[in-house]
Amino acid sequence: MTKTTERIALVSPSPGTQRHLLAHRYGRPGARPKAYLQASIHADETPAMLVAHHLMKLLDEADAEGAIAGEIILVPVANPIGLSQSLNDHLLGRHEASGGGNFNRSWPDLYPTLPTRVAGKLGRDPARNIDAVRSALREIAGELQPGNEFSSLRGALTRLAVDADIVLDMHCDDEALMHLYLIPQHWPEARDLSAEIGSRATLLAADSGGHSFDETFSTPWTRLAAAVGPETPVPPACLAATIEYRGQADTGDEINRPDAQALFRFLQRRGLIAGDPGPLPKPLCDATSLDATEVLRSPVAGIVCYRRALGAKVAKGDVIAEILNPLAEDPSQQRLSLAAGTDGFLMTRRQHKMVRPGNSIGKIVGTEPLASRQGYLLED
Ligand SMILES: [Zn+2]
Repeated sequence: MTKTTERIALVSPSPGTQRHLLAHRYGRPGARPKAYLQASIHADETPAMLVAHHLMKLLDEADAEGAIAGEIILVPVANPIGLSQSLNDHLLGRHEASGGGNFNRSWPDLYPTLPTRVAGKLGRDPARNIDAVRSALREIAGELQPGNEFSSLRGALTRLAVDADIVLDMHCDDEALMHLYLIPQHWPEARDLSAEIGSRATLLAADSGGHSFDETFSTPWTRLAAAVGPETPVPPACLAATIEYRGQADTGDEINRPDAQALFRFLQRRGLIAGDPGPLPKPLCDATSLDATEVLRSPVAGIVCYRRALGAKVAKGDVIAEILNPLAEDPSQQRLSLAAGTDGFLMTRRQHKMVRPGNSIGKIVGTEPLASRQGYLLED
């Protein structure tokens, strides 16, 4: 057996309390390829934690059979800070309650000192360049200083993931179909991941603008490649993806065990685990540009009454939902229609139907880039 479990203490946020992470490691340290997987950085993403739970069982079995060929790190609960936040019995994920912002934004930018650190160490050999960049990235991650509990969480997860070939950040949406985020430099290379997990929408953005966890590891490579030019080949050597395991309510062994089996087959296909994964399933979608996905927002407060189901094919102008004002005295003025701004299909909706102005009520996956989707591409 190669499995070891590391317990990583976070900075204590208040006297008498301290949280920690568990990182399960499989395979010989330093073996390649290396995959890093974590679940639920937004905390309130139970499907992702259940996928990690089932994956761990599969990895334990493979390890007992001596089948781990690369190195795999699995963090089954990436955000114990968020998991501790609750109000009126509701788990409050997504944002850090003490003011640290969205848990999946503003991750440390590993790029700024990277060109200087690798200066004079890069040449014509892509494999040697990869080694030099990884070693510099490890150095940068090692120097991150924890200023508080949240930044100690960021630092610990960054150090675990920083030199991986594959980083899979497992989330879920509110009410949603399975979907996947990647940078365009990893398409079509990552077709196997998209097909294996059964992605219904695979969304590409070179820089979504939010410094999310996945882009922390994928974009230093592409930015460095652009800076040094084609004479010095720097491959996009970290395939980092965000996987959205449908909606929060899609939590159950019968749903998430097959999800874990799909990840296991993907890791087999990529040479991390011995054994035959069988034929790749038929893909359920092609990739589309994230700036072609419309985020439909309500301009007013009220109750969302959906007119279209999740997954419904929609055309520009179709009414997706009405926002009902329960205080309107004139019933004819009670509802405001929200229409699709693009042709596509409805990928997400919201579970909780009372909305405030500016809330997203759904995402429509289209194929034509939208003028409304420039710059910052994430939901919030
Ligand atoms: Zn999330």
